[in-house]
Amino acid sequence: MNYSVSRAVVTGGARGLGAAVAERLARDGLSVALLDVNEEAARETAASIAQSTGSTVVGLRCDVTDRAQVTEALSHAADALGGLDTLIGNAGITRDRMFHKLSDDDWDQVLAVNLTGVFDCLRAAAPWLRTEGPGRVVLISSIVAKTGNLGQMNYIAAKAGVVGLVRSAAVELARFGTTVNGIRPGFIETPMTAAMPQEARDRLMTDNLLGRAGQPEDIAGGVAFLCSDDAAFVTGQLLDINGGAAL
Ligand code: NDP
Repeated sequence: MNYSVSRAVVTGGARGLGAAVAERLARDGLSVALLDVNEEAARETAASIAQSTGSTVVGLRCDVTDRAQVTEALSHAADALGGLDTLIGNAGITRDRMFHKLSDDDWDQVLAVNLTGVFDCLRAAAPWLRTEGPGRVVLISSIVAKTGNLGQMNYIAAKAGVVGLVRSAAVELARFGTTVNGIRPGFIETPMTAAMPQEARDRLMTDNLLGRAGQPEDIAGGVAFLCSDDAAFVTGQLLDINGGAAL
């Protein structure tokens, strides 16, 4: 795949989907900064990807719920990469409970990471995305933003909000040649879903037309496409990568 962009920031990049995305972009020749709340894991993952791909990959501490850290981390990333033209908004958490049992903290934390954190990273990256374009933004939503689900009202509200961020940022950044798209993954095997009860995992893993669990690389392939020159005329769109679930 050919890319006009060359310097990417991936939030939540220390493990799971974020690590797979970082690895794919680095393998395709981009320089990558992994931002993660777990600084040690971010550095370790970055070092391992740098070694296996030969690309510049750095791991930086960034809790996306801390505005000062977001500003500082984006600035450090741009210093390390020589600017930036690509943002992958991936960091996310779940705190699942039926809505009448959700605590204030369950609501606040999930919205803080999965929606406000995405907005804050986007806003902090804006100076580069507006001047170093044409750039690329890919934000990770979820299949449940489309379907709804039991016990995930906080998460679903945030992920539906991400769809709004995709559409509005696409409108605002188009004049700079920067595209903004989202991905709505179905069930993907990562540390996040490994924490789910086995019964739910077994059901969700094969609840799609292809009859297998999604892998982080399935999402990384979609991100790579949306960042590539092949997607130069794609903006404001949501790509469903879910094996044909919930058709
Ligand atoms: P993981 O929990 O496996 O990885 C998420 C990464 O984000 C972890 O490294 C985690 O750090 C980090 N993180 C958590 N909170 C913050 C924060 N405040 N600031 C910065 N980094 C943070 O999740 P997945 O890889 O499965 O999910 C990635 C994204 O994909 C999420 O947005 C998720 O909602 C979305 N998604 C996942 C699906 C799936 O089936 N896996 C399906 C649909 C969407 P730490 O390890 O320290 O917590």
